[in-house]
Amino acid sequence: MRFADLAAAYDRLEATKSRLEMRHRLADLLRPLRGDELAIVLYLSQGLLRPEYEGVELGVADSLARRAVALATGGEDAAIARAAKASGDLGRTAQELLERRRATTGARPLEVGEVYEAMRAIAAASGEGSQDVKVQRLAGLLERASPLEGRFLVRFVLGTLRVGVREMTILDALNEAFADGAKPSRAAIEEAFNLSSDLGLVATTLAGGGVAALATIGLEVGRPVRPMLAEREPTLEAVLARMGGRAALEFKYDGLRVQAHVPRDGPVRLFSRRLEEIGAQFPELGPELARAVRRPPAIVEGECVPLDLDTGEIQPFQDVARRRGRKHDLDRVAEEIPVCLFLFDVLLDGGTAVYGEDFPSRRARLERLVRPTERVRLAEQKVVDSPDVAKEFLDEAIAGGGEGVMAKSLKEGSAYRAGARGYWWIKYKRDYTVGLSDSIDGVVVGAFHGRGRRAGRFGAFLLAVYDPGRDRFESFTKVGSGFDDAALAEMPKRLARWASDDPPASVDTGVAPDRWFRPGVVLEVRGAELTVSPVHRAALGRVRAGAGLALRFPRFTGRYRDDKGPTEATTSAELLEMYRRQVRQAAPEEPDAPAET
Ligand code: AMP
Repeated sequence: MRFADLAAAYDRLEATKSRLEMRHRLADLLRPLRGDELAIVLYLSQGLLRPEYEGVELGVADSLARRAVALATGGEDAAIARAAKASGDLGRTAQELLERRRATTGARPLEVGEVYEAMRAIAAASGEGSQDVKVQRLAGLLERASPLEGRFLVRFVLGTLRVGVREMTILDALNEAFADGAKPSRAAIEEAFNLSSDLGLVATTLAGGGVAALATIGLEVGRPVRPMLAEREPTLEAVLARMGGRAALEFKYDGLRVQAHVPRDGPVRLFSRRLEEIGAQFPELGPELARAVRRPPAIVEGECVPLDLDTGEIQPFQDVARRRGRKHDLDRVAEEIPVCLFLFDVLLDGGTAVYGEDFPSRRARLERLVRPTERVRLAEQKVVDSPDVAKEFLDEAIAGGGEGVMAKSLKEGSAYRAGARGYWWIKYKRDYTVGLSDSIDGVVVGAFHGRGRRAGRFGAFLLAVYDPGRDRFESFTKVGSGFDDAALAEMPKRLARWASDDPPASVDTGVAPDRWFRPGVVLEVRGAELTVSPVHRAALGRVRAGAGLALRFPRFTGRYRDDKGPTEATTSAELLEMYRRQVRQAAPEEPDAPAET
């Protein structure tokens, strides 16, 4: 195909407002194409060189494109910059300049395949001298381009193609061009896309063998599946009613969704919800997954959350967000912000595609497939059939660091529906609308060795409240945030005289710090909310049997309460009162806020 024909088609598409008309035009463009050329035209039309998940980027900045335009048209860089600024579109500017240029006689017309190869070369050029290579390749194309072709070449490299064809429109057009245009064909095309995330593959398969051939597109390790999504309901009663009175509830972890592809040999690959490859940002997860998954090849899904390895407590989502998109110091950050992947689904099990099986069968497979490790675990789950039990589980989920629960249908038809949002999964979050306004004065009873940047000194401290009735210091949180370098240097000095080789008799905690301290130093902290906790002992058993109260997401305010002795710190009773106030405040907005038991 001539690139001029593609540019003309883009020109028409750009002028089209109606989605229906756009579909017809796109179908006309695609109908004569087959094989590689069809795939290439699809990628290019979306402004891509490869399916989006491969993350191939052109790496062409404005200035670079301007240099290429200058080279090809004999224009002057500064003048081009001014014109582009005025028009807001370097593509248009290039087009105008090419119109004024003397017609190039005898230049070979550009072919789509050749433009594509040049674009791949531009994308691949990296390192020293690569900028010049990119400019030369682009200028080479522009020299042979018509003004209209020039406009789209420039826009393409800048990532501003704007012909406006969305994935859904492309699926419609494929149906029109290569199938009967009816609904069942459309559904089959969409399903193939959801499973493969590759429009080029779907189109060439369809054009080559019709709708029936789409069934050959299966799962492939290394090619992400578009994730299944959840609906929401306002109450747990409504959630259960939707699911026929019975459902599997899981903790809803607040982190990053991860789809892990575990091959038989070679490195594990991780994809985000948006199908970006994110394995490099979590270097510790790949090897751990390779150990945890008993039968590769496999594709499993889970939520990645920061986890405090000492207390087993889930940490704020912002921590994992800090690891996302990082390019440097990845190992150090991995040490500093350890994460855990809580797996909740399996799509490929020992090479067998199981996404079509109902959820109970997939969960059973997941349990057999995965041998849990420190950082790869299964999502907490319970099958419930009454709102009361569901509420209890919600409580547990919040206490365990979840942001709510995810209900999963157990009914027939509860297959993994790639790329679809539906009532097979329903999320229910309990958003506390109130933060904890009071600060808490906590007594330092332990310390933890720092990791990463804080290696070689204490990185966090175990704090307790005081129970005058028992004359005990009961732990309620581990705090590491809010200490600047000066504070971190200061803490060992303040603590030195309180150091203790053994757990002090007056301290009550389920956590094992690296160093113990007798109660002496008091710090002021604030946090997001109080929850029940299996490891902390403040007000033990007062809210729930066997559980204490814990402060989530604590932060040192910077204030040492030297004015307070340890027995003048916040008491367990005060903490319990703060918890009750918080539950009462949350109640009016939240019909499902837990009743205290
Ligand atoms: P939302 O992003 O609020 O629409 O909620 C859906 C997201 O919850 C999913 O995409 C996952 O990232 C996340 N999630 C956390 N825990 C679970 C779970 N147990 N099952 C499914 N998704 C979960």
